Amino acid sequence: MTDAKQFFSIDGELSKVISGYQARSAQVEMATAIADAIEKKQNLIAEAGTGTGKTFAYLVPAILSGKKSIISTGTKNLQDQLFNKDIPLIRKAIKMPFFAALLKGRSNYLCSYRLQNALTSTLGFSKEEAVALAKIKLWARGTKSGDISEMSGVTEGDPVWYHATSTLDNCLGQECPDYSECFLVKARKKAQEADILVVNHHLLCADWSLRDSGFGELLPNAEVVVIDEAHQLADTASNFLGITLGAKQLNDLAQDALME
Ligand code: SF4
Repeated sequence: MTDAKQFFSIDGELSKVISGYQARSAQVEMATAIADAIEKKQNLIAEAGTGTGKTFAYLVPAILSGKKSIISTGTKNLQDQLFNKDIPLIRKAIKMPFFAALLKGRSNYLCSYRLQNALTSTLGFSKEEAVALAKIKLWARGTKSGDISEMSGVTEGDPVWYHATSTLDNCLGQECPDYSECFLVKARKKAQEADILVVNHHLLCADWSLRDSGFGELLPNAEVVVIDEAHQLADTASNFLGITLGAKQLNDLAQDALME
């Protein structure tokens, strides 16, 4: 079987799909160290300077290992880059079949049930909201993933998405008439089956937090976990696993106590 060093060499598999390919010694060193850590089931912390080509340096050994792997990125942009650019290029070069999937948090997926409700609602939407909902409806007819980042006509931060995505509280789950076609359900199913699953730190920490509380899990168990942009993990982890106490909570508690 191909090893990581051979894959990145000047006449290796990667050179066949990238014109003008030049091997990078730091990339080979990092990939070899990761392959070694995977094989020996060890932890590895690696710092890669700009231009190392770190995403390939961890993706290739993870894929070549044949082990179920979770790759977590700090940002959704890097998550999209791995899934839409890097993994397809590696797939072209690599000789072995593997199944990769992308999973984001719930609010990143179209909820067709809530969109339909909004479109038929008698609630008065503003003109801008009505236009945005009509654009989402058009996109919803053709999307395969339901990932709202695909939709160029309405930005991801637009509050109108509240009416076309779900939360844990308003999702009907298995009672939903659209359950069998639900984009979130399909994405989670693919995540369970994937050899290489690309997530972000928010989802990874949400999974840890859920497992910690004993209320289940969001992600499948994996043999290999790669945390890219790991310097961002501490902040995300403290949001999910820490305890926050602010003036609002104290005020609410004081008011409840007075009412009692
Ligand atoms: S199952 Fe939940 S997220 Fe999926 S379509 Fe129904 S309400 Fe929306």
